[in-house]
Amino acid sequence: MYDFAVVGSGVSGGRIAYELTKAGARCLLIEAGREFEARTFPRHEIDSSTQLFWGGGLELSTDGRMGFLRAKCLGGTSVVNQALLDRFDDLAWEDWRARSGIATLTAAEMEPHYAACEKELSISKIPEQHWNRNARTFIKAFEAQGYGWKPLDRAQGDCKLEKGSDCIVCLGGCPRDSKQSSLITVIRQAREKGLEVLSGFEVKELVYGTDQVKIRGVLGANGNGLGGKPHEIVVPKVVLAAGAIGNTAILLRSGLGAKLPALGRGFCTHPQYMTYALFDEPVDAHKGAFQAVKSEDRRLREQGFKLENVFAPPIATAMLVPGMGPEHLARVRKFRYLASMEVAIRDEPAGRLTLAKDGRVKIDKSLTAADQEKSRKGLALVRELFEVVGAREIIPCHQVFGLHLMGGCAFGTDPARSVVDPEFRVHGFPNLIVADSSVFPSAPGINPSFTIMALSQRAGQALSRR
Ligand SMILES: Cc1cc2nc3c(=O)[nH]c(=O)nc-3n(C[C@H](O)[C@H](O)[C@H](O)COP(=O)(O)OP(=O)(O)OC[C@H]3O[C@@H](n4cnc5c(N)ncnc54)[C@H](O)[C@@H]3O)c2cc1C
Repeated sequence: MYDFAVVGSGVSGGRIAYELTKAGARCLLIEAGREFEARTFPRHEIDSSTQLFWGGGLELSTDGRMGFLRAKCLGGTSVVNQALLDRFDDLAWEDWRARSGIATLTAAEMEPHYAACEKELSISKIPEQHWNRNARTFIKAFEAQGYGWKPLDRAQGDCKLEKGSDCIVCLGGCPRDSKQSSLITVIRQAREKGLEVLSGFEVKELVYGTDQVKIRGVLGANGNGLGGKPHEIVVPKVVLAAGAIGNTAILLRSGLGAKLPALGRGFCTHPQYMTYALFDEPVDAHKGAFQAVKSEDRRLREQGFKLENVFAPPIATAMLVPGMGPEHLARVRKFRYLASMEVAIRDEPAGRLTLAKDGRVKIDKSLTAADQEKSRKGLALVRELFEVVGAREIIPCHQVFGLHLMGGCAFGTDPARSVVDPEFRVHGFPNLIVADSSVFPSAPGINPSFTIMALSQRAGQALSRR
């Protein structure tokens, strides 16, 4: 009945399903999570975490030192992300070509794919009058120390900032249908052209045949993955777009590990470290536009990190801010007086995803000595920047986060060192296609979504032609 099933509905899955449906293919989009919309997104921070994310909000590395966030809902992580879109630079493409052996990974080859995605999205900068005090503190500190910064590009429609919107809430799904998630862009448009969607179906494994693939999983489990009924769908071709962790888990559970020696290797995350700073005057970092500017300085890029002008909602802040008892309470009560900056490092692809006996994924992700050196330098710079703008207290957080989950199914020309070929097919399994964040051969040190979209657009077009 279907030509393709696409597993996973995030940045990649939504885009590929759109390209295929637009080209006339009969397509089923499968998603483990539930479907929400602007008026039904959970509005309490705790409910957003438990209902929109895998692991009830947070998954942890095996050593417990790093937390990972990945969404589980129709639209995937595009529903909860910040929608900041950046093209890769030459440094990122050069590194990918060297690691993958794919000569066509160049800015010039990828430009038409970026441009095609860009044409269909509303992308803009936050107008200067809406930069909040967290952004202005960031700029003041950067200018005082002579570092470069830039307004950022965000996929957004009308956030109604002049009417007093606080965009921090859209970390739990945008209530204004302004953030350009896959849910309200490509999935909505593809549905109008005939795309079918099956939410609440968690794919466990694939049974591969030369002219058909059986997709086996559980339909209708609750948010914790409990309950539900076994379900099976048979299609000629499967696009895996379940992200770095999701794709790797499905392929490992399907027994492909023995044939694909690189499966699960090269996992990287742009580890992120928040630092808060307490000021005498209210900062109100949670008000208005949530993020407006970013670091743009070759010196930081060369040292392997960037700085983000970002903040966190109240419960996340309470979890991040260190301390016990009255000391902790006093800091959390100063929520309105806190500014924050984040260091995100370009980590080495040294992480590994494997399966535990119960079929769940084990995430081995510790920082190499080089990664630790990058974070040390980044954190020292944040301290310097907050000091120069007169912070009363600088509060480093101890939990490290991975929000950009990449690798595990790297693409490349050599089947001994990669999982997916340059045409986005799993080596030796031509009816399995992958073009999402799992194909990244290394961490670019740049926001990944725009490139995931562009790769998926390229893969979708190539599939439609074939
Ligand atoms: C808070 C936050 C902010 C971010 N901000 C930005 C940003 O501003 N800019 C940027 O570029 N990046 C950002 N990112 C990262 C970016 O969103 C991800 O890199 C991107 O969404 C990955 O796309 P993907 O298609 O590979 O996976 P996802 O978008 O995560 O989609 C994968 C989908 O597959 C589904 N799935 C997984 N396993 C299964 C299964 N077994 N069966 C069925 N379905 C399954 C998942 O539920 C999910 O819906 C952010 C991430 C977070 C968490």
